[in-house]
Amino acid sequence: MEKKIGIYICTGCGIGEALDIEKLSTMAGNSLGASVVKTHHFLCGEEGIKLIEGDSATEGINTAVIAACSNRVNFDVFSFPNAIVERVNLREHVAWSHTPNDEDTQMLAEDYVRMGAAKAKRIEFSEPHIEEDISKTVLVIGGGITGITAALEVAKAGYEAIIVEKEAQLGGFMGKMHKRLPMAYPFAKLEDTGVDAKIKEVTEDPKIKVYTSAEVEKIAGQPGMFDVAINTSGGAVDTRVGSVIMATGWKPYDASKLGTYGYGEYPNVITNVMLEEMAKGGRITRPSDGKPAKNVAFIQCAGQREEGHLPYCSSVCCLTSLKQATYVREMDPDAKAYIFYKDIRTPGQYELFYKSAQDDEGIFLTKGNVTSINEDGLNNLMVEVEDTLLGGSIRVGVDIVVLATGMVPTTADEAVLNLQYRQGPGLPDLDLYNGFADSNFICFPFETRRTGIYSAGAVKMPQTISESVEDATGAALKAIQVIEAVSVGKAVHPRSGDSTYPEFFLQRCTQCKRCTEECPFGTLDEDEKGTPQPNPNRCRRCGICLGACPERIISFKNYSIDMLASAIKAIEVPGEEENKPRVVAFVCENDAYPAFDMAGINRLNYNPSIRMISVRCLGSVNTVWIADSLSSGVDGIILIGCKYGDDYQCHFVKGSELANYRMEKVQETLNRLVLESDRVQLLQLAINDYDKIPSIIGEFMEKLEEIGPNPYKGF
Ligand code: SF4
Ligand code: SF4
Repeated sequence: MEKKIGIYICTGCGIGEALDIEKLSTMAGNSLGASVVKTHHFLCGEEGIKLIEGDSATEGINTAVIAACSNRVNFDVFSFPNAIVERVNLREHVAWSHTPNDEDTQMLAEDYVRMGAAKAKRIEFSEPHIEEDISKTVLVIGGGITGITAALEVAKAGYEAIIVEKEAQLGGFMGKMHKRLPMAYPFAKLEDTGVDAKIKEVTEDPKIKVYTSAEVEKIAGQPGMFDVAINTSGGAVDTRVGSVIMATGWKPYDASKLGTYGYGEYPNVITNVMLEEMAKGGRITRPSDGKPAKNVAFIQCAGQREEGHLPYCSSVCCLTSLKQATYVREMDPDAKAYIFYKDIRTPGQYELFYKSAQDDEGIFLTKGNVTSINEDGLNNLMVEVEDTLLGGSIRVGVDIVVLATGMVPTTADEAVLNLQYRQGPGLPDLDLYNGFADSNFICFPFETRRTGIYSAGAVKMPQTISESVEDATGAALKAIQVIEAVSVGKAVHPRSGDSTYPEFFLQRCTQCKRCTEECPFGTLDEDEKGTPQPNPNRCRRCGICLGACPERIISFKNYSIDMLASAIKAIEVPGEEENKPRVVAFVCENDAYPAFDMAGINRLNYNPSIRMISVRCLGSVNTVWIADSLSSGVDGIILIGCKYGDDYQCHFVKGSELANYRMEKVQETLNRLVLESDRVQLLQLAINDYDKIPSIIGEFMEKLEEIGPNPYKGF
């Protein structure tokens, strides 16, 4: 397509007052190859939009460089079906954050317009990648309350669902429960689980197909076209689905590891799951002799929040013990329950349930450390607790001890998905919390690191029935959303609606496998030689593969090595004698770029030597851009992205961490060019850190002043 570029400069919102617009327009008209350069005092208004549309109709403008506000606003206003749009941020990043009518502010604006035009020349129209044979069915693995709810929600929205349940019946742990926690004010009365009605609803719904005593043998393909093999008692079933909800739930922590509490040694030391089964059977008795249990002790956090056991809090065990203490009292008003805890955790309205248990004189609660549990030879147990709230130690004789054991995700040691992905059959999990799927749960609570596959319920994190129901509802919506997005060739998140995708110029691929290994979402499979085999519907469009590729053969229609390299070349680097340093800042579009917008909105002033380049993720920064910048005389480079490490905030999970790792390669470049390592820095910045921007930039500029100008300036 022959490019006809129009450059449109807005003079509203203070831009016109801060800059010499005539000079800017003249520069744009004389040197950037644009067919038209126009200014308008209110470009996002009706008249401004008509101006651009008119040029498109009469002058054939098919590429509009809009030098106005941030691309994070008015993106819908500056959207033209027949024109490529490149936004240049003269408002937040220039006029609102730098001294008005200053030579350096003007130079900044001119560089940004040059950079925008350079990029615009290389952006191409993108055709969405749309596969045929998209399925709109949702596969739900697990038939407990989470899976049941997810399938019902999917069906209610008009889509079909398939449930695959390992057990012979639906219901999961909820089916084994006597009662559930209170659900309404005053949060004091236990309720029936209602699981039978739910099972009936699901089995009678014509949009839901249920396989019990069945397991998923394999899942191949990509969102919209996952090919699933299911093993059922009646034989193998092959089917195609659009998305997957993993709702396989939890299992109790292995109590055989809790010998210190007498489990396995004393028959009357049991777990909370065992007590639940007893209560459902109608009687709470001593396993040793079947006599009614008159005194029951509950030991909280048994094997949780403890070194050598589960490091986390299962969040529901305090509530479960309060519930089970209520069973003890309801079944025998003369019986007594003792709850020994490290902390009682009853979030939200459940505090009222805790209070109602406190008000029951037959339920005794105290904080304390259980130091020993012994048996007297007649299967009576003696629990010794020290540092209690009462002060000192106490000894309590009981019939049974119930260990509040925690929840472990089924995925900790079971293959659930059996994905046929180059990066492995399961979901990448959290380093510390084995089995819980990793993702950016702050921003995307349902996502996993496999696009189109969502986790919900206790397999995602320990949670109550009510929380699992809510979770399942959210996951069902996400599962539908991804199907609809891939049906039109768009990304579902975080670049929702993005219809570009990475293209590989494979003739030059050296099969180094960096892209296949570093893609955080398992998008790329590979052939036997190691050549990447993309699955576009799995792709999140982060560009991390583009950042990884040493051959620089991966590109998007609107984001490529050449595009950003051209923007870097468009920066006018003043000679050494002018004493005007230049810094290129590769700024992550997710948090850092909006933080700079926030700095502008708050009129924070920072050094005008910075030339910002918005990147999809720091992980998408190819080291060649850094080398190009340094060779063109730029004095320093900052990469600004999201926090990495255990509590990372990177929208693409590993991007900023990979950028940090790639800094080693950057050091090699610096050594080769005989340049100081301090010229390149990687910074972590959250959106709410915007107020730190002036000092962060200021400190970096001071450092550069100490180092002195880039010796490649002027070459
Ligand atoms: S753009 Fe991101 S998600 Fe897509 S293939 Fe590349 S690394 Fe993977
Ligand atoms: S990173 Fe580039 S060269 Fe290496 S396998 Fe991927 S496409 Fe090929």
